[in-house]
Amino acid sequence: MSYKNTADFASELDAKDELQQYRKEFHIPLQKNGEEHIYMCGNSLGLQPRRTKDFLNQELEDWATFGVEGHLNAKNPWLPYHEFLTESYAKIVGAKSSEVVAMNTLTVNLHLMMVSFYRPTSKRHKIIIEADAFPSDIYAVESQIKHHRFSTETSLIKLVPRDGESAIRTEDIEAIIEREGDETTLIMLGGVNYYTGQVFDFEAITKLAHTKGINIGFDLAHAAGNIKLELHKWNIDFAVWCSYKYLNSGPGSVAAAFVHKKHHNSNLPRFSGWWGHNKEDRFTMPDEFNAIKSAEGWQLSNPPILSLAAIRASLSIFDEVGMDKLVAKSKELTSYLLFLLSTIEADSIEIITPNERGCQISIRVKNGNKQIFDFITEKGVVADWREPDVIRVAPVPLYNSYMDVFNFYKILESAL
Ligand SMILES: *Cc1c(COP(=O)(O)O)cnc(C)c1O
Repeated sequence: MSYKNTADFASELDAKDELQQYRKEFHIPLQKNGEEHIYMCGNSLGLQPRRTKDFLNQELEDWATFGVEGHLNAKNPWLPYHEFLTESYAKIVGAKSSEVVAMNTLTVNLHLMMVSFYRPTSKRHKIIIEADAFPSDIYAVESQIKHHRFSTETSLIKLVPRDGESAIRTEDIEAIIEREGDETTLIMLGGVNYYTGQVFDFEAITKLAHTKGINIGFDLAHAAGNIKLELHKWNIDFAVWCSYKYLNSGPGSVAAAFVHKKHHNSNLPRFSGWWGHNKEDRFTMPDEFNAIKSAEGWQLSNPPILSLAAIRASLSIFDEVGMDKLVAKSKELTSYLLFLLSTIEADSIEIITPNERGCQISIRVKNGNKQIFDFITEKGVVADWREPDVIRVAPVPLYNSYMDVFNFYKILESAL
């Protein structure tokens, strides 16, 4: 499509947008002057769906009405409540329903998965991760290495882009797997890198890992609800994600995990809790742990229902729209944004996000000039600044419009 950098053109695109009415399903935060913010920060905290309140109120009412009996008698009984999220999650990440479970929070799940999938020996003890992975992921893998009495200096391999490049090439990952594969036992990557917005070639990297007998897991914090995923088909061993970024389920809401079916009957060691025990006799409180033969077997505790209710509200929107339509609009929105940015004459910005991307665009600002970010913030844009020099913006297909993208561009242009 040939684009134009005019407001009229942006509103034409909005008029043609099939998902346009979903913007009304969300609370768009207002500026002091009463106008809506240009909210480009769904990669950090997704907006609140209007229906979330009703879903939460239902559980508050049932708690008031039933007390403990709500576990069985609530309209949506709390005992199996996490199961109400399973089908929707399976569709979002491309999994069998036995492979996904909502539980805990993200970094906790990362650790639980590493308990099962990082089993270092003196011959194979290395973990491969991106050098610019989200800090929590680095802390988690480093602490796992130390927990097993290995040293991060010899057991952690960090992937870095080539000089002058921002994204990591698959061929470079291949070379490292070739070189280090025999000593490596786990590859842990952010499916979409939080900083550059790069989407890794899940399938190719997973194949390479498995030819060397390496387990592979992905942190999908920036991928779930953003890009099309096929975790089962790609044969990924495990994945974890949070629900509060693209999945719009509220600050700190419960996270989720994927464990490939091929591991459900294995003897992988795990940290166990009563919620992972067989549903048939969980409440007879037996002494011996007997894991549920699915991803649910990795659960520890009975989950926070109020948080799950917020996730359920949000996932009902994803069910209505479906990832295919979402991704199609997402691609259009980001292409339009990239087109608009390409019309800016100034050489003071550079896009570091590669073509393999979701909706996030990372804009590097020359000399780390944060005044540019402060200016656009002052003008009503909600984006985020990552040290030393990057503005991340994410036009989210469920609630951002082409006009949002256009207004963002106008403000950024005037800042430059
Ligand atoms: C957002 C994010 C986190 C945050 O972790 P929590 O445990 O939810 O606080 C971790 N890793 C990545 C890659 C993220 O994007």
